[in-house]
Amino acid sequence: MRTPIIAGNWKLNNTISEAVSLTTALKPLVAGCRDVEIIVAPPFTALASVSSTIAGSNIRLAAQDVYSEDSGAFTGEVSVPMLKDVGCGYVIIGHSERRQYFGETNESVNQKVKAVLGHGLKPIICVGEQLEDRESGQTEAVIESHVTGGIAGLSATDLASSVIAYEPIWAIGTGKTATPEQAQEVHAFIRGLLAAAHSAEVASQIRIQYGGSVKPENASALMAQPDVDGALVGGASLEAESFAQIVKFDQ
Ligand code: PEP
Repeated sequence: MRTPIIAGNWKLNNTISEAVSLTTALKPLVAGCRDVEIIVAPPFTALASVSSTIAGSNIRLAAQDVYSEDSGAFTGEVSVPMLKDVGCGYVIIGHSERRQYFGETNESVNQKVKAVLGHGLKPIICVGEQLEDRESGQTEAVIESHVTGGIAGLSATDLASSVIAYEPIWAIGTGKTATPEQAQEVHAFIRGLLAAAHSAEVASQIRIQYGGSVKPENASALMAQPDVDGALVGGASLEAESFAQIVKFDQ
């Protein structure tokens, strides 16, 4: 079955020394967790130091974004080969903050997803509706465009090694979590879209994370839903103890 996947998105937080302290504190707290994939996504500047800190542990490394070209005249960008070189196994792509503040589109998400998969890394493809979308009955239409746009042209094998993160924008950093039932409803809808894009068998292998104010107190109820396979955690991942408690949602 699908191995649960809990990822901490640190966003624009933590200097190198703070990042090393956080991961040094996290390592022993989650050392015994074997049946869950644990990921941290520091800012670019801390990737190398965190990579050394987690070497040999059960914590894996993700980047928060990437550019779709491998090299060239693209000032300020970071490529997939560079992320692979520093030890990243995953890349978060299309986070709502990238879509909202930095002009990310379904097309650019799709290009980045293909670049990441082309180098053997795994994309965590973020999708999610705004509050107005939900209130005007547009949730499914928005999710469908994010999912189908993000995975366009992927082979079944590539799709099966991708992760989708459903993050309702109204729940990110607001303290308002989707209820487990609201999350399940959208996760089941996403799995249906994945089945329609390829097959029910491929769709059944893809992990779908929930993100949006996940905390130790609500993680187990969310994870108990049949189509919720993990969490993408912002604020609560900045503290080792609270992130470890989310990783141990079933203990
Ligand atoms: C996120 O940024 O992906 C996120 C879910 O943030 P938070 O947990 O703080 O709502």
